[in-house]
Amino acid sequence: MSELVDFAPRRSEPLFGRLAIIGIGLIGSSIALAAKELNLAAHVVLADREPAVRARARELGLGHAIAETATEAARGADHVILCVPVGACGAVAAEIAGSLKPGAILSDVGSVKSAVVEAVLPHLPDGVHFVPAHPVAGTENSGPDAGFPSLFLNRWCILTPPDGADETAVARTRQLWEGMAAIVEIMTPQHHDLVLGITSHLPHLIAYTIVGTAEDLAAVTQSEVIKFSAGGFRDFTRIAASDPTMWRDVFLHNKEAVLEMLGRFSEDLSLLTRAIRYGDGETLHRHFTRTRAIRRGIVALGQEKPETEKLRKP
Ligand code: NAP
Repeated sequence: MSELVDFAPRRSEPLFGRLAIIGIGLIGSSIALAAKELNLAAHVVLADREPAVRARARELGLGHAIAETATEAARGADHVILCVPVGACGAVAAEIAGSLKPGAILSDVGSVKSAVVEAVLPHLPDGVHFVPAHPVAGTENSGPDAGFPSLFLNRWCILTPPDGADETAVARTRQLWEGMAAIVEIMTPQHHDLVLGITSHLPHLIAYTIVGTAEDLAAVTQSEVIKFSAGGFRDFTRIAASDPTMWRDVFLHNKEAVLEMLGRFSEDLSLLTRAIRYGDGETLHRHFTRTRAIRRGIVALGQEKPETEKLRKP
């Protein structure tokens, strides 16, 4: 048992009979650990296309069973969660469509929502409810060993149900995430993509860029980049170690929102560049004062705390 049960009570009756998790990476394995520990489903079954990952998942005791294929895992499931990169959601939905039972809920965890909705909806069989989700929680690690059950504790999970979505299906998906101690918010896929464009996607792009720039400089100052990285570089660029496939898909599938945010960011950067060039200390000071207040507001909201500090009792 992890410390999670101190904060999210274990259910006496499971919420779902069979929960299928497709993709055993950081997010899939974390859901499996939390769902089994908190009795959110009577039977948690996982699937992964890679035999070595399935073998590792068995060794780790993830869920109650590991299926050989996504189709086998999804068959008869009450709730199916696609935990694969955004760009793979459509193909996996098409693959499992024939095995989804009427009344089942299909969900995902993709970091982009409009593109996933567009890719999945055409494959949705009649009588199956699609409730897309995005847990705003993660680390820079990936694979079946990366998961831990308290990953979603006190983190947002955004649901983006399509217009006219079945209310019971949405409520049960909400219960699943709240059962893992996440805080659920509902919004449209388009709004989600805009908000996450600035709060998550752009910061990742900047971190990836800066690490690349430093690497280019490394020919001259290789040892200094490592030696002095505690001066901001190390913390700021932690996210540049995130999974390349996942992030390639995020940028390819949230293109418009990211380009919009990148445009605004470039304009703001030009203003600061100009202030530095012309020695305009007043502009710099005004900007840094404003951003310090914004940053402190984020910390006060509790979305930026070490794992041990963010734990809350129910
Ligand atoms: P991960 O640890 O890299 O795992 C990705 C999983 O997807 C692996 O099981 C992988 O299978 C599978 N996969 C990759 N390409 C596939 C394909 N073409 N067809 C079928 N399966 C495929 O990634 P993750 O961090 O769990 O991310 C999974 C999803 O969660 C992504 O949509 C991501 O946007 C979203 N998400 C991530 C975070 C985060 O911080 N990491 C946070 C919130 C949401 P193999 O084992 O065969 O490679």
